[in-house]
Amino acid sequence: MQCPAMPNDEKERQAAVDQLHLTDVDIEVAFDRLAKLLAMLLEMPISVFTVIDGDRAFFRSVIGLSLRESPRQLSFCAHCILQHDLFIVEDARLDPRFRDNPNVTGLPNLVFYAGTPVHAPNGQPIGTLCVFDHRPRALTRTMENTMVTLTAILEDELRMRVLSTVDYLTGLFNRRQYDDAIGREWNRTRRMGLPLSLFSIDIDHFKAFNDHYGHLAGDACLRTISHALQKECARSGDQAFRVGGEEFAVILPGTGLPGARILATRLKQALHRLAIPHERAPKQEVTFSIGIAAVTSPAGHQLVEFLQAADDALYGAKKQGRDCMVAKPL
Ligand code: GH3
Ligand code: MG
Ligand code: MG
Repeated sequence: MQCPAMPNDEKERQAAVDQLHLTDVDIEVAFDRLAKLLAMLLEMPISVFTVIDGDRAFFRSVIGLSLRESPRQLSFCAHCILQHDLFIVEDARLDPRFRDNPNVTGLPNLVFYAGTPVHAPNGQPIGTLCVFDHRPRALTRTMENTMVTLTAILEDELRMRVLSTVDYLTGLFNRRQYDDAIGREWNRTRRMGLPLSLFSIDIDHFKAFNDHYGHLAGDACLRTISHALQKECARSGDQAFRVGGEEFAVILPGTGLPGARILATRLKQALHRLAIPHERAPKQEVTFSIGIAAVTSPAGHQLVEFLQAADDALYGAKKQGRDCMVAKPL
């Protein structure tokens, strides 16, 4: 058996996978329909929208298999994402790359494979749309065209998803995504008995910045700050959002108040390193204020309380004179 090679830019590829949140547990009707349509049109017993995620092939939508994932090393799709278009294995039993693959020699006895790489809107191959059969087969030209067309529809769906969840100016997740994410993380950390923290961040004296330097410079400043937030948060596995004009939120699942303070300090340091001049601000550079809400476990509390605590804490930081952080543990 030949294990699939890693793409040269695997880190960027995995980032594209993470950004799309395709491995969350929600039901994805749109993808399920495409997988079903593919199986029907090609008259195949198995069809899958696979996401190559770390060391696994995750089956986002699957028809005809009861599995939800397989090791990447055994995955046909991990080979497919290295190709530009259709990847076909007519008889895996005769193919040195697959003939001793346990999924070929034993259950589910995969013999025929055809897959097309699925690309994220930024062009990274995040997985495949593919079919399997238990016997050798070949695809007609019409079948090939069907696969390519359905893959294009799937990629359109991903593009729409990015448009509706990512803020155009800064590239951060938008308010809509934040509203979904905070509810999801609240419930998830409650189920798992984990702590949760939330930052509410607001740039100080930003109206004066716009008035003095102009709106375009204001936009550039928002982009620079967003980029810094995203970079710092990516290091710790936390998520940053642009929730309003010059307002941001960061969700820190599994992090209590001490850890939250450390990240908040790091964010302030990152902004300070940028040293964006602001002649009309007391410190002569752009600063922000951070309100921190933290809970040891959401159980026994309400999400609205938690959101209010982050708002109150931010208000407190503004009142204390800005460029500081205030925490409000529940
Ligand atoms: P504070 O320190 O109390 O937060 O004061 P502030 O001036 O930052 O707050 P205020 O709410 O008065 O003003 C926010 C300003 O943010 C108003 C608007 O000019 C600016 N702003 C909001 N969204 C955008 C944007 O997308 N681009 C630019 N350039 N400016 C924006
Ligand atoms: Mg504001
Ligand atoms: Mg402000």
